[in-house]
Amino acid sequence: MKAEIIAVGTELLLGQIVNTNAQFLSRECAALGVDMYFQTVVGDNKQRLLDSFKLAVSRADVVICTGGLGPTQDDLTKDVLAAFVGRELIVHEPSMKTITDMFQSRGIHMVESNRRQAMMIEGSDPLHNETGLAVGVAFTYEGTHFILLPGPPKEMKPMFTKYAAPWLRTRMTDEVPLYSKMLKFAGIGESNLEHQLLDLIEAQTDPTIAPYAKESEVTIRLTTRAQTASDGERKLQVTELEIRKRLGEHLYADEDVPIETIVLQLLGEKNQTLAVAESCTGGLLSDLITAVPGSSQSFLGGIICYSNALKHKLLGVPMEVLEGEGSPGAVSSETATLLAEQLITLAGSDFGLSVTGVAGPSPSEGKPVGLVYIGFAQKEAATRVITLQLSGNRESIKQRAAKSALYHLWKQLKDS
Ligand code: ATP
Ligand code: MG
Repeated sequence: MKAEIIAVGTELLLGQIVNTNAQFLSRECAALGVDMYFQTVVGDNKQRLLDSFKLAVSRADVVICTGGLGPTQDDLTKDVLAAFVGRELIVHEPSMKTITDMFQSRGIHMVESNRRQAMMIEGSDPLHNETGLAVGVAFTYEGTHFILLPGPPKEMKPMFTKYAAPWLRTRMTDEVPLYSKMLKFAGIGESNLEHQLLDLIEAQTDPTIAPYAKESEVTIRLTTRAQTASDGERKLQVTELEIRKRLGEHLYADEDVPIETIVLQLLGEKNQTLAVAESCTGGLLSDLITAVPGSSQSFLGGIICYSNALKHKLLGVPMEVLEGEGSPGAVSSETATLLAEQLITLAGSDFGLSVTGVAGPSPSEGKPVGLVYIGFAQKEAATRVITLQLSGNRESIKQRAAKSALYHLWKQLKDS
């Protein structure tokens, strides 16, 4: 089944908003086993919208539109599509009731245009909007399935998942759905990872192997066609085992989660706690950790000791270590060690992680941009320091330093 997304909105064409709806819908379609062939973006313009529908019908079995279901004059999607397929717009009574009730309960006067959000195309199935007012519609016209969803992601996403996807699934009975699995890697770059799997990637047919990289994490998506999850698992098994054999030391999860989630999971299982002392990452490491729900079980807290004065005052690093002729300096193995060790004394945590480095854009203390030291202190164990020479701009160096700290902690936790 070939699909096309039509994202409607002049805002998208002007670059005022990013087309995240297309990304979401493409992923969801891939998971359903619907092949995405085209993504179109069109402005709030009758003629060009009509042209887009004409083209889409000629080349797609499923057309999913987002945007332009609102009450204003530039919200044209339903009107234009109704005209295109030669059907009337009719009132969807339950949506009309919700809208009138809402206006009444708030004591606001309802204008005619608000009624537009309760309109649906004759002969279509309504797609209930639980987080907004505009009703979505789904119908089939000359063999092409149309799905209309509102623009705001918080309305569009639940409507697709809960109502549109099941609607579509019942119309693709003879298609074998796609089954995908994500393998997540850290501590290895995308090109290195690809290099180690090149023979597998080049020879791939079924399953397909698709590597892609986000900041400091590489994902491999394995995909096959299977009727059930257990069939899918079985078909992926040989390839997955081969990948594990080659890159197992970097593989931290077989689902799409960031490494901090796994680190916290391991800390929780071992009933151990963590505290961090951050210099060049400026709180980013703590931010990543606390973004994981339930992190408070293992994460005691972090200190952002950016200046030398605070490294000294809060964590007792001697000034003669931090600065002055012949001193190791703030960006050094000595400072990373002392920060991590003092931290566990102060916080009483099982692990103390410290990060100090040069995020750039200019060198500091005569040390190059991207030089980062990560200290690992642990109760009743010798402190370790990892030295990294990272590349990238200030933002990516901070990101990579924080993720590397998590990666090395993960390695330590999984092996202990
Ligand atoms: P509304 O009732 O809010 O007018 P609508 O269905 O008419 O909803 P639009 O007017 O096209 O949708 O867009 C409303 C808002 O939804 C946009 O300002 C934007 O924030 C978000 N939005 C629209 N299209 C997209 C898209 N393709 N990707 C991400 N966000 C989008
Ligand atoms: Mg609108």
